[in-house]
Order: sequence, then structure tokens, then C-alpha cells
Amino acid sequence: MLRIGVDLGGSKTEGIVMDVDGQILVRERRATPQAEGYAAILANLCDLVRDLERRAGSHCRVGLGTPGAISTKTGFLKNSNTVCLNGRPVKQDLEQLLAREIRIANDANCFALSEALDGAAQGAPVVFGVILGTGVGGGIVVNGQLLEGAQHIAGEWGHNVLEPDGPPCYCGKHGCVETFLSGPGLARDFALQGGNTALDARAIAAAAEQSDTLAEAAMRRYLDRFGRALSVVINILDPDAIVLGGGMSNIARLYTAGLEHVARHTFNDELRTRILPNRHGDSSGVRGAAQLWPV
Ligand SMILES: [Zn+2]
Repeated sequence: MLRIGVDLGGSKTEGIVMDVDGQILVRERRATPQAEGYAAILANLCDLVRDLERRAGSHCRVGLGTPGAISTKTGFLKNSNTVCLNGRPVKQDLEQLLAREIRIANDANCFALSEALDGAAQGAPVVFGVILGTGVGGGIVVNGQLLEGAQHIAGEWGHNVLEPDGPPCYCGKHGCVETFLSGPGLARDFALQGGNTALDARAIAAAAEQSDTLAEAAMRRYLDRFGRALSVVINILDPDAIVLGGGMSNIARLYTAGLEHVARHTFNDELRTRILPNRHGDSSGVRGAAQLWPV
């Protein structure tokens, strides 16, 4: 059966229809009507699914990827940045509206699944998928299966405390990995050390390439923190491959100098874990959502 994958983001909702060979047959992108609230977001999702099915000419299975997680306590969505979804029975409501079972997962988990099944880490037994974007997330796939964990937070390394004296995080702690390794985290660190507050992460990385002293120093701190933060994950999970996604994954030095920092901080005399750029780019989320269903 054909599979639909939907990536529900705060500003856009994207859907695809994927065939058994992993080819994308139909793709559609819409704005997420976040200001109109919960009912409008669900109606938009259902309309998108029906439109994709009409264009594909087939009834499909539906997988949904979204920030946040389904609470094991309540069955409701939690930790989503599309805040009107939090505390709502998103899965149950969508199943009723679409008259079928759906599968739902965290968007970083969808990324990890996509890259493990037919992406950059295809064939690797244990894969850690990492999102380095406006936030920092992660997902774990073992032998082609998502590892969700006892409370559905497996892989959430972004809120490990890296430096207890670091900046406050929205989660209530200080110095989380996310406060340093996200794009805004790099920009904040650069500004704190006297850098131009108008520069975003991409501009800072570019300035470092042009040998700007402050930008280069910020990048070196970033690469060292990248190494320390990932070494903690490797010491526990020891994955065969780590795939990087999100805007910051375009920084080429992560795969050279960053890798050396990871190796230096990992509890071993060599680093066999491969650190790879993603294969599917912006499509990883929708692909992984479709792949929540087997072929
Ligand atoms: Zn945090």
C-alpha cells in the first residue's frame, strides 16, 4: 500500500506520497494555520491527506512527524513548539477524522528513521540521527527500528547539561547542549564574546572561513562543545553512524575538526563511529513519517 508522510511544523505542513521503492510520487506544501488554532490545524491536515490521496489515486497509510512527543502519561502531545497542539489528543482526533489508524512520531525520530533506512546511514545497525537547527534533537534507530524509550525521549541529547553555568534554557535548566549547538546558540555565544549581534549562525560560519578572529574563536568553541556533547552519547550508545541534519549540519568543519574533537573526548583510542551529512535534506522528515509504516 502507498504511504503518506506528513511533516507538521510550526509554519508549514508538508506531505508526500511514497511508493514501495521509496520514490516520492506526489508532494504538497501548505502553511500551517497556527493562529487559527487546533481545529483548523487538524482540518488542514485532513484536507492535505485527502488531496494527496486523490492525486495518487489510492487510499494510503498515514504517518505524521511533528515536534514534541506523545506523553506516556496522558496519550496527549507534549513539548511541541506548535503550542496549541500540546495537551491535545492529536493521534486520536486525527484517527477519528481520517477513519483509520495513523502513526505519529517526533520529527527528529522521523529524520533518524529516514536516514537509517535509505539515507546516509543505510545498512548501519545502530544509528543516531541528530538535528542541529533552531533547536537540537535526536533519534535512535536500531536494526531499522525506532527506539522510542520508556517515556518516549530516547535520543533527546539536546537537553543534556553541557555546562551548568551556561545560558538558561526554555526547559528550565542552564547550559543544555541546545543552548550552545543550535544556530541561535552559536549566535548568542558569539555575541557574548563581543561579536556582532546582527550576525546569525550562517554568517558567523562564513566570517570564520574569512579568518575573522572573533568568528573563528566562536567556531572553535562550537566544535569543542560538539565533540564533548556527542562523546557522551557515543560512550553510552556506541552507534555505527551519526547522521547530522538541520541548518548547522552544512558546516563542513563538523566532519573534519568536529570529528577530531569527538574522537578526543570519546572513551576509546580510536573512533569507528562515522559522522555523516544527511542524504535526504529537507525531505528526511516527510520520508521518515511515511516510513513509520513498513512497506
Ligand atoms: Zn534544555
